[in-house]
Amino acid sequence: MDKLDIKSMTVDEISLLMKEMGQPKYKAAQIFKWLHSTAVDFDDMSDLSKDLRNALKEKCYIADVKIVKRLESKIDGTVKYLYELFDGEHIESVLMKYNHGYTVCISTQVGCRMGCKFCASGLGGLVRNLTASEMLSQIIMAQRDNNIRVSNVVMMGMGEPLDNFANSTRFLKLVSDEKGLNIGLRHISLSTSGVVDGIYKLAQLNMPITLSISLHAPTDEIRSKTMPVNKKWNIDKLLKACKDYQKVTTRRISFEYAMINGVNDTIECATILAQKLKGIMCHVNLIPANPVVETNFVKSDDSRIDKFKTCLERYKITATVRRTLGADINASCGQLRRQEERKEEV
Ligand code: SAH
Ligand code: SF4
Repeated sequence: MDKLDIKSMTVDEISLLMKEMGQPKYKAAQIFKWLHSTAVDFDDMSDLSKDLRNALKEKCYIADVKIVKRLESKIDGTVKYLYELFDGEHIESVLMKYNHGYTVCISTQVGCRMGCKFCASGLGGLVRNLTASEMLSQIIMAQRDNNIRVSNVVMMGMGEPLDNFANSTRFLKLVSDEKGLNIGLRHISLSTSGVVDGIYKLAQLNMPITLSISLHAPTDEIRSKTMPVNKKWNIDKLLKACKDYQKVTTRRISFEYAMINGVNDTIECATILAQKLKGIMCHVNLIPANPVVETNFVKSDDSRIDKFKTCLERYKITATVRRTLGADINASCGQLRRQEERKEEV
């Protein structure tokens, strides 16, 4: 019999399990609290009887992540983790310190099937989805390893969260539970490359998270060259989904735009972008593209990025140039895992 992934279960689900095991329901909240704080083993749950701990061991396992590599920036304290999962697969996470607290960037899949040309995460395709417990464990480990409390989460690591919809939304429910990590949904961003059917499904849940769209190009011609997802759902369909999403949730949408030299960074691009975003309450994040060993994209010059930003602002679209954190450890997302895989291949 496969063991149950108890860290992916809600308090209600653990309550049902308690009932099945002939235990009082209130134990569920106790167990849930342990799973989301310090427990790595059922024996750590010191307020449960030995019999119950043993019964839980028979039925369930506690998912965790193991630190394989930890790189800390000397410039700003950003910590980049390479974690190993129970089956030997690797994922990445980043802990960032801002004035308002700590943010963790988590992965949602091992690899990614979306195949964006500028991204290291997608180079080897999708290996598997992460469970909700593996997403949670990335935050719990960052807290444990640095003795801090995380206040914000961005689902912007490896993987496409809307291609792993059930686990990603289960994670959102668990991470915001006040009996657990209690990170409010307003402090969480979910980033998607534009999986339109997922955006509609997410709208139905009407969660107050921030939806972040990786747009990266103002026209289908440019976007389809770098992001294959655009062939299935083009920019018009994507922006229509954003408008519909906003009607339901009334939340401002973020657009990510990686500035790639000579690809999407002209004033003409900025003008078309501004026109297309008209009518959407939004904010644009301009990101100097990170170099990826396997691709030949180069980031735009700072002056070009500034001009692009000024152009958007002229059209009353607010934009920020994302500051680079951890520049000295800047293996951009997906690259640590690829280094690790290459090492294993040798
Ligand atoms: N799959 C989701 C979330 C993870 S990617 C998505 O694509 O939105 C997180 C962000 O990093 C996305 O905006 C993605 O487009 C961006 N990204 C990927 N590779 C990059 C690179 N080389 N330079 C800058 N941004 C990059
Ligand atoms: Fe996947 Fe996002 Fe990378 Fe595209 S940018 S390959 S969707 S992780």
